Amino acid sequence: MKTLNFMAAGQLMVGEKPMPSLNGSDMVVKVRRSAICGTDIRIYKNGHFKIPCGEKRVLGHEIVGEIACVAEDVSYFKRGMRVALVPNIGCGHCEMCLEGHNELCPDYEAFGISIDGGFEEYVYIPDFAVKAGNILALPDDLGYDEAILAEPLSCCHNSYQALGTKPGDTVLVIGAGPIGAFHVMLNRLAGATTVISADILQTRLEKMLGYGADILINSAEEDLEQAVLHHTNGRGADIVITACSAPALQAQSLRLAARHGKINFFGGLPEGKSNVLMDTNLMHYKELKILGTTGSSIFDYKKAIDILASRRLPLEGMISRKYRIEDGLEAFQYAMSGQGMKTVFDFD
Ligand SMILES: [Zn+2]
Ligand SMILES: [Zn+2]
Repeated sequence: MKTLNFMAAGQLMVGEKPMPSLNGSDMVVKVRRSAICGTDIRIYKNGHFKIPCGEKRVLGHEIVGEIACVAEDVSYFKRGMRVALVPNIGCGHCEMCLEGHNELCPDYEAFGISIDGGFEEYVYIPDFAVKAGNILALPDDLGYDEAILAEPLSCCHNSYQALGTKPGDTVLVIGAGPIGAFHVMLNRLAGATTVISADILQTRLEKMLGYGADILINSAEEDLEQAVLHHTNGRGADIVITACSAPALQAQSLRLAARHGKINFFGGLPEGKSNVLMDTNLMHYKELKILGTTGSSIFDYKKAIDILASRRLPLEGMISRKYRIEDGLEAFQYAMSGQGMKTVFDFD
């Protein structure tokens, strides 16, 4: 089968690989779609601590497809079932796993990071992933082009659960990439009265109108703080989400939030850049709640599938380009250009 291997930082190579042999509760999923995420781009550029030097890895943790074969101990899953893969596999024993937060397990394994992921024709599902519940069946009427959006949407669902957006809220989403778009859609669906989208790229920003944003702020052209205060009658936003990796915006977000506002540092910062100086008096005197969310649990993923299947989200244009796996390098170049929304590998 064809595969796209990560060899070392800055090095991807299209290759061939034999089909895996199965034991116990292992399975193989024929990949139908897999998508490039910011995490894949970061690994491609810098490597990852879970990928030892000299070892190759198939990246890609956003994966949907159909079960191609199952080993003798698998009973629930059958050949031909359409499924999505939840990327982070918890150990099943720690407190976080017991609480259902596999995304916070300190001993996690993950498709596309510690084990091979979806940038190949068939992905091997080790039995611990099957037993941990990381394989979810897809509803019959949810197409692969929609289902492939479940993983990034599930991470935004985790954020939404932590923030608890409600009708009457003004939500500010900083960053107008695919993740920003999902935050806009979900907060709109949750009943936010006004959704403000901010970015420095006008072309990306304008797309947010179609995803449910009411107000756009191009922060390369206007002062973000002044614009937010202007659009909120001087109050600031009830909810601020930083869907970008800029340290200065985390500090600034305290000035963009309303009294009793909630802020989620959704986007992680590059290593060595996360010691951000901020005015904690703003936190104190405005009684702000500042949180972080990372990844998603199996439950968030299930909710994301349900939300996609409800057809309540305006997903038009969320997949900007599709590539064959043989053109993997070109696909990464396009994804890294930051021009579009999702870049997807299509195996049909
Ligand atoms: Zn992702
Ligand atoms: Zn665990």
